[in-house]
Amino acid sequence: MTCDILISNCSVLTPDYNIAENMSIAIRDSRIAAIDKAELLSETYTAKETIDGRGKLAMPGLVDGHTHVCQHLLRGRISDEFPMIWTRFLVPFESSLEPDDVYWSTQLACLQMIRSGTTAFADAGGTHMNRAADAVLESGLRAAIARSVMDQGRNIPDSMKDHTRDCIEKTADLYQGYHGKGDGRIQIYFGLRQLMSCSEELIRLTGDYARQLKTGVHIHLAEHKDEVVFCLENFHLRPVEYLHHLGLVGENLLAAHCVAISEAEIDLISRQQMNVVHCPRANFCCQGFPKTPRLLETGAVVGLGSDGAARDDISIFEEMKTIRVGLTAAWGLPIFDSTVLPNRAILRMALQGGASALGLKQDLGALEPQRKADIILLDIRQPHLYPSHNLTNTLAEAANAQDVTDSIVNGTIVMRNREVLTLDEERILAECAGRARKIFERAGI
Ligand SMILES: [Zn+2]
Repeated sequence: MTCDILISNCSVLTPDYNIAENMSIAIRDSRIAAIDKAELLSETYTAKETIDGRGKLAMPGLVDGHTHVCQHLLRGRISDEFPMIWTRFLVPFESSLEPDDVYWSTQLACLQMIRSGTTAFADAGGTHMNRAADAVLESGLRAAIARSVMDQGRNIPDSMKDHTRDCIEKTADLYQGYHGKGDGRIQIYFGLRQLMSCSEELIRLTGDYARQLKTGVHIHLAEHKDEVVFCLENFHLRPVEYLHHLGLVGENLLAAHCVAISEAEIDLISRQQMNVVHCPRANFCCQGFPKTPRLLETGAVVGLGSDGAARDDISIFEEMKTIRVGLTAAWGLPIFDSTVLPNRAILRMALQGGASALGLKQDLGALEPQRKADIILLDIRQPHLYPSHNLTNTLAEAANAQDVTDSIVNGTIVMRNREVLTLDEERILAECAGRARKIFERAGI
């Protein structure tokens, strides 16, 4: 039999989070055709291209469940600032972006994601998301892209708000133009920035349209106390309850953060199989400690996100380490239990939790025949990884973005031996440096 790519003689992270040695993976037509012992597959398959997997671990590509590709050129500016980041920085920055700024910012974000082992992501959206989608298409990555929409709220200039119907129509246009493009790599989700800046009518319409078009909705939800107070005062319901009341809490909802949630909301999230995405580094700095162990105990689906590059890098490996340390300190230490969030659960969040957030839980998140070939290879013969008594633990606790050597998305190689094949790194860095300066001048920040 023939296959497009054969990854030979590698170790493999199995779907139950064990390590299988001396394996090979055959890829054909964007999917995994077979995974088996290396000597078996080398007899069965003739490959158009072979990747030597000796000394490497193959695992599913990481999924960033919540990011902001258009905030990449804000890097380094908002840390150690007094509060009011939204009004002082994000509003002037985002409203000063031109379409090509978004394109180059997204190219930079994709470059960094490929080099960090992320093969798919969900973007909460900003403006000019058609140009973001163009850049993602070129990068070879997989993404669920939303437009950020707002039709009400204080502290938001009119230029960032739209009439309710326009919010829907602009996203519907983006959907018509890009959903399914790139051999199905691009999905267009409906976006709702957050509850305080979206009217009840907009939320209801968004739910209706997303159901009609069979796509997802991406929102920032239950982020902080102000939002809870806003919902209690206006609707006598907490944020998740309010959104459920409007018919949006379900499998196609991707809700970032979900830190300020009650037991009743956890029950609702779990029953409705809503997708929660925690962003540990952003959460610990700005919102608090999410109740991840409790959510997982109830069977809720939880993924990991970077929340963009304005404050940190966007490596999901770093989010994995941070959530382990932070939540063990927050929930484990007070009860003398260091196992409140085991490494396997963290890996499952970064892989299967993310896959579910993108509506692709059958296709992504595990290396098995028939799933999409979104695969990364890590060099595991390195002093911080080798030898290990339990590579699954070491993977979650010690692996870094720099360990990723090769990346395959949808059966196509996008990075080989750390060289990104789809993007022009030098040009991206030069374009972005010039544009970052000009955006800051225009925004006055
Ligand atoms: Zn966000």
